[in-house]
Amino acid sequence: MPNLKANDVEAASRQVDRLFESQLETLKALVRIPGIAWDAFDASNLEASAAAVADLFETTGLFESVEILRAEKPGSEAFGAPAVVAHRPARNGAPQVLLYAHHDVQPPGDASLWNSTPFEPVLVADPIFGDRMFGRGAADDKAGIIAHHTALLSVREILGKDFDLGITLFVEGEEEAGSPSFRNFLEKYQLRLEADVIVVADSSNFSTTIPAITTTLRGLVSQVFEIRTLDHALHSGMYGGVVPDAMLAMVRLLATLHDEVGHVAISGLHQGHASELPYTEAELRADSGLLPNTELIGTGSILDRIWARPSLTIIGIDTPSVAVSSNTMQPVVRAKVSMRIAPGQDPESALEALRAHLETNTPFGAQISFGEIEMGSPFEAETDQWAHALMSKALSHAYAADSVDIGIGGSIPFIADLKEVFAGAQILVTGVEDPDSRAHSPNESVHLPTLKAAMTAETLFLLGANARAQG
Ligand SMILES: [Zn+2]
Repeated sequence: MPNLKANDVEAASRQVDRLFESQLETLKALVRIPGIAWDAFDASNLEASAAAVADLFETTGLFESVEILRAEKPGSEAFGAPAVVAHRPARNGAPQVLLYAHHDVQPPGDASLWNSTPFEPVLVADPIFGDRMFGRGAADDKAGIIAHHTALLSVREILGKDFDLGITLFVEGEEEAGSPSFRNFLEKYQLRLEADVIVVADSSNFSTTIPAITTTLRGLVSQVFEIRTLDHALHSGMYGGVVPDAMLAMVRLLATLHDEVGHVAISGLHQGHASELPYTEAELRADSGLLPNTELIGTGSILDRIWARPSLTIIGIDTPSVAVSSNTMQPVVRAKVSMRIAPGQDPESALEALRAHLETNTPFGAQISFGEIEMGSPFEAETDQWAHALMSKALSHAYAADSVDIGIGGSIPFIADLKEVFAGAQILVTGVEDPDSRAHSPNESVHLPTLKAAMTAETLFLLGANARAQG
């Protein structure tokens, strides 16, 4: 096994066992701070949560510096949310490892859908499937912060404070708000954040028993567009049957975006392959809540379809609502389509393919015009480097089950930013979540055995990385 000693495994689990109960109290204290980076929420909570995180890592005594930093939002004088950056430099040829998490959380949403109070953490015992802690941020991503913290405390107990491994802790405060100042932050503090390996603790495992590294993410391209057929609205009785209205043109156009079986029908989009993991149609049906007679769309492996191929959703149409509808032919209709693009495709070329398809397939010679766009790059990790091998080993030991590489059908744009700014770094996207963590939803929770295993795995990873020093 790469740089992982048998007695490390035993030492790591012993330390995590010893720390676990008190670390759950630390996690609870973080969950009680409702730091939400959206304008509608009290920003002072983000200051409080950044301060609490800085304090936690300051008291480890492992860092030369622990700072609360911020960067300007693009095109604005305003600053983004406070991030915590702690740094100790590597020595003797040991690698520099950056540990990423975020301290902001999603808004709680509809409180009536929660079985508990969102910002008052509750432990619920489950002797069969494993205990959970419920609360907003208990999993996403305060559990990530606690996993990093626990791993560092364990490493300190095992090696003492004087070890060679360089560690940079980076806990940002606006991930759930789309990380508006993140790119500027990376560029502003690039020297301080430079690392050989970046461990992102903000994703999920394959299940509560199978650990995973997330090695691919789909990208995102969305486009708003308008279809016009008339210069003003018409009485449908006077002109219907001769004059095409904008809605007819729009629905015909939208219908060309998928073929008969439901594949995205835009030519030029990249199609990839996911790792071969067991995921049945029955599991998909249970996870998604698909109604019994509704059929799946597309063909081939389900995970290929979710993780490695493009998909397209019509996410909005602006037209009179049924309540105010009259017998009128609409001159203009606006729609927004959102595509998930496969790892390996750049968003610019996908946008170009989408626009070309829309232009060529607009019926009746109607006019089409394009509005706002959003673009996020997909992500594909390199899986043939030492850090991936070491993390796979560490996870497999900690969970006592082989770690797998998974994809995520969604997009985490900040990971593409990390990869662009730190092109030489190996990026490991790991997580403390499981498929039932319900991040962003009511009744978010962290599965405690998974959290504990994540702490042990990260401890093992850091021990193994430290052993790469030449000194
Ligand atoms: Zn998150």
